[in-house]
Amino acid sequence: MYSIAIHGGAGAVPRDTLSAQRERQYRAGLAAALDLGYAALEKGGSSLDAVTTAVRTLEDDPLFNAGRGAALSREGAAELDAAIMEGREQRAGAVAAVRHVRNPIELARRVMEKSRHVLLVGAGAEEFALEEGLALVPNAYFRTEERQAQLESERTGRVISELVPSSQGTVGAVALDAAGDLAAATSTGGMTSKRQGRVGDSPIIGAGTYAKNGVCAVSATGQGEYFIRAVAAHHICAAMEFRGLPLRQAVCELLHQRIRELGGSGGVIAIDRGGRMVTEFSTEGMFRGIRDSSGLRQIDIY
Ligand code: ASP
Repeated sequence: MYSIAIHGGAGAVPRDTLSAQRERQYRAGLAAALDLGYAALEKGGSSLDAVTTAVRTLEDDPLFNAGRGAALSREGAAELDAAIMEGREQRAGAVAAVRHVRNPIELARRVMEKSRHVLLVGAGAEEFALEEGLALVPNAYFRTEERQAQLESERTGRVISELVPSSQGTVGAVALDAAGDLAAATSTGGMTSKRQGRVGDSPIIGAGTYAKNGVCAVSATGQGEYFIRAVAAHHICAAMEFRGLPLRQAVCELLHQRIRELGGSGGVIAIDRGGRMVTEFSTEGMFRGIRDSSGLRQIDIY
């Protein structure tokens, strides 16, 4: 049994503002990432490879708020966060506030595999990317016209209808491979108009990203400040491990009780040791997809 779930962010996705053509583009982007991640599992690859592949694909797609197409800071720059974790030995790697690494998820994985550390930020993270020979790009590579317009509309209060609100468009993946290993990965540009140096939940292990074999793997999206305060991804795993909650109940408790009590909203994708997947959100919609070796394959927005 092997399975993979992905998300492309949760948020206010008003149906009437998402044109049919635009919806097709989102679905195609999700399908590409889902199928590439699944192909890695099908070839006998690890869950780590599957989540890395799926997230890298979404980072390269300018529709999603990660890598190219990331939400822009107050100063108009892209500052990217990403994390990856594997469930067997619970190794983890993360990067925050990087401005020139084309695929932050690749760098997070190098941090996990090639450094003694878990989290590298800013200039130090980019120095490490250079040493590792990863692709570096000018910050302008990440900035799309749409994200610039979005920033402008936040500044002026003018709403631009065709756009999906960018503060929630993070990408992530969770997978179980044939060997029974779980993995999770998340990558984001954060929130539109954030302060320089702001770091969200995505690269914080236990908040936006977490994996533990025998229990579950989780990737979250939503208002990062709330997910950090709720230690969201770890909350789900701990509720299963120590209180015996099934995956769906653990996810619902986190989203519909914990996060809600704090005043936040968002979405979660999670997978348990049996490959069962849950995609749940407390927002209007969440871009998401699931696929497994029993033949299930589904892509949804609402
Ligand atoms: N959680 C991300 C952050 O706060 C944003 C999102 O998921 O939309 O950085």
